[in-house]
Amino acid sequence: MNDEQLAFDIDGMLHEAAVEAAPVWSGAPLHFTTAYFSPAALDAAYAHWQFLHKLNSVWRPNRMWHRAIAVPGGVEVGDHAFDMFTADLRCEPWKHSEPRGMCHCVGELTYQAICEPHGWHVFAADENAAVEAWHDHVFPRWRELPVVPARLRSVDQPGLSKTARKWVLDHYPEAMQVTGAPVITERNNAGTRHVPGRSPWSGYDLSDSALTRRHEPSGVGLGD
Ligand SMILES: [Zn+2]
Repeated sequence: MNDEQLAFDIDGMLHEAAVEAAPVWSGAPLHFTTAYFSPAALDAAYAHWQFLHKLNSVWRPNRMWHRAIAVPGGVEVGDHAFDMFTADLRCEPWKHSEPRGMCHCVGELTYQAICEPHGWHVFAADENAAVEAWHDHVFPRWRELPVVPARLRSVDQPGLSKTARKWVLDHYPEAMQVTGAPVITERNNAGTRHVPGRSPWSGYDLSDSALTRRHEPSGVGLGD
């Protein structure tokens, strides 16, 4: 046995001891759940799962809620707050015997937006839809906001140009010029993601083309 292997084994033994010594987990479930839990509780459960499986050499999928990539969390907006989680619920057909499409996998529930002060949360099939549902909760009339024309976009920088910002300040209702409020911008086909933190008030820059596409009658219904 070489030193490296020995160190690895000792590490493993120490970790096993730590796992055994850990108190029985009483936080959020260590698997997928649709029950409401605070962002901190979801974070803690995910961290605990990672601790339990720290030394597994083989990657193990889990279906737990964890932070969505490139989405800031703990954002306070007036009396509300914004956190976004995602869970990998892709169907694993080899694991069950039902014919294709007949299984009970909940593959469509992959994003969860949370407003902690209100104990409010929503599930959606994609990140954009979760973002929109959160806006429905916080800014009920956001869908009526004017769309910032694409011609005001800056060619060499992402986000709102000076001209676009000025246009927004001139055209947006005052009540919607508050911290965390969104803008809706016209995009080309490539820009369909709703981008956090890019409105003049650090709210979302919502893609008009994404909204338009979702509202086509043939689009996938997401229940808004
Ligand atoms: Zn709220």
